[in-house]
Amino acid sequence: MKLVFWGVRGSIPVPGPHTVRYGGNTSCVQVELGPSEPILIFDAGTGIRELGQALSARTDSLDIHIFITHAHWDHIQGLPFFDPLFKSNCSITFYSLKRRGHALSDVVNSVIETRYFPLSRADWEARIRFVEFENEESFSVGSGISVSTSRLNHPWIANAYRVDYQNKSMVYATDTAPFEHVILDWDFISRAPDVSQPVDPQIKEQLQVMRHNLISLCKDADVLIYDTMFTDEQYARNPHWGHSAPSHALAVCEESGVRHLVMFHHAPERSDEEMDILVADAVELASKTNVKISAAQEGHSILL
Ligand SMILES: [Zn+2]
Ligand SMILES: [Zn+2]
Repeated sequence: MKLVFWGVRGSIPVPGPHTVRYGGNTSCVQVELGPSEPILIFDAGTGIRELGQALSARTDSLDIHIFITHAHWDHIQGLPFFDPLFKSNCSITFYSLKRRGHALSDVVNSVIETRYFPLSRADWEARIRFVEFENEESFSVGSGISVSTSRLNHPWIANAYRVDYQNKSMVYATDTAPFEHVILDWDFISRAPDVSQPVDPQIKEQLQVMRHNLISLCKDADVLIYDTMFTDEQYARNPHWGHSAPSHALAVCEESGVRHLVMFHHAPERSDEEMDILVADAVELASKTNVKISAAQEGHSILL
């Protein structure tokens, strides 16, 4: 299993001299399982464009599976520029959590509406399929390839994915707030709750269930790619934005037995030098644990 990082940034693409090393494209991670296996892609941020160019050079028939965590721009904005959509040798299956009244096909079609993009669905020559799953569902996407899911704590609800293949496993968990102060679901909370106040017992219990499910999903995974957009101070200021700090990600690793944490969904304003400091602080924090920490960098890969 090989994890390839095509886009590692949160919120908005930030190309330029300050993001050369970590990368400026938004979320897109490929899981490569072998030359004849299906191609798994997590999120369709702007990083998916270059991945599409690499794939469209291939002339064999490609079985591509795109798993969308949620439809915020930074997770779908590269989709219109994904070349395999325009190739007849490609089958593409989109996955997302079932959201009542909001079909996945509508989300995908909306990014290529004429007012936003000149080409239309009629130009897509790939065979397209949509799969909407229920919360916490697991399914197979090919012989011996298992995908499991769990809900995250994020406005409009994002979900995490786990892939198991030939005794190797990875979890992709972005975007999420820790499960401590507030439940984020269908309605955006416009004002930050006071994190120093005690949490309503009922809410606390629901958050514990969500966290427990995520810990189970991550159990003993080889790699956990996790939202670490915030520092602890930034989280305390904006707990309602739906993002975590490295300390939250590390706690999930320790509880679930994950050995390698990959920091992901880097804040758009964070320069390479500031990223180096955030990573060094996280490595220091993890020094008393068995967890290895690295940060996702565009163009880099991890072989399991
Ligand atoms: Zn995001
Ligand atoms: Zn989001």
